[in-house]
Amino acid sequence: MVGFRIGIDLGGTKIEAAALDAQGTLHLRQRIPTPPGDYPGTIAAITGLVRRIENKIGERPSVGVAIPGTIVAETGLVKNANSVWLNGRPLGRDTEAALGRPVRFANDANCFALSEAADGAAAGCHAVFGVILGTGVGGGIAIGGRVLVGVNAIAGEWGHNPLPAPRLPEEWPGPPCYCGRTGCIETFLSGPGLAADHRRHGGPAVDGQALDGPAIAAGAAAGNPQCQATLDRYTERLARALAVVINILDPDAIVLGGGLSALLHLYEAVPRYWVPHIISDTIVTRLLPPVHGDSSGVRGAAWLWHPGEYR
Ligand SMILES: [Zn+2]
Repeated sequence: MVGFRIGIDLGGTKIEAAALDAQGTLHLRQRIPTPPGDYPGTIAAITGLVRRIENKIGERPSVGVAIPGTIVAETGLVKNANSVWLNGRPLGRDTEAALGRPVRFANDANCFALSEAADGAAAGCHAVFGVILGTGVGGGIAIGGRVLVGVNAIAGEWGHNPLPAPRLPEEWPGPPCYCGRTGCIETFLSGPGLAADHRRHGGPAVDGQALDGPAIAAGAAAGNPQCQATLDRYTERLARALAVVINILDPDAIVLGGGLSALLHLYEAVPRYWVPHIISDTIVTRLLPPVHGDSSGVRGAAWLWHPGEYR
């Protein structure tokens, strides 16, 4: 068998690995817990997964790794990883030494964008913006089937821009963000941001806890006007935030990922709301739900190598 590529998704709680064949099908998918706080253990876990897959497929294929942060080109050290024991570590060099071959790394949001651009929701599109709407808000850009990393390795990181065209006084200066700024897109469009907005507007709670995204969506579907109002605010804010991306990058497609991408009304409503904020009288940008879901990390990581580049 030939033509496999191994993709690894290094997450905060689990490490997932699989072999992607030339047709884009995943094989030998496996998942182990991430050894928390243990850097050498993390390298050993990655190496073990690669060896196990290699033994089964009888090849020594390319390896790509999706990480929750970035590797700084100048230093080779990880930064911005929420798996904090990786920060400041030469993860790339150490993994390559352990595996005895070059290994490519990319941020997990970039891998999401790449996976959906390669053979997912945005297959065939030239420029794709992949959005993560989950515990945090992230983004990645794929151009021509390659990740756009950027000179500072932050391309696509829109979550800590201020929410555009803020409504005063509610949205500016806005809620404090862990990054030290206020009114960041993430403070409104992450899952916790949505729940906090619902709470600020006096929305119904259960046992003193603000409702989460799915519960607010269920409440809206059941006719609760406060839940509906919260969803409307969320939808319109997402439209404003994405309009700025369209004005700058003008991608063929935007693919939503993360837990809140399951809010199906977004795909119809957001493109209606973004119209007044986009400087074009025709807008053909597509807003799409993800195809690969949880597999995006391993798939995108495998796609960091193109056929024929390795060996
Ligand atoms: Zn922020």
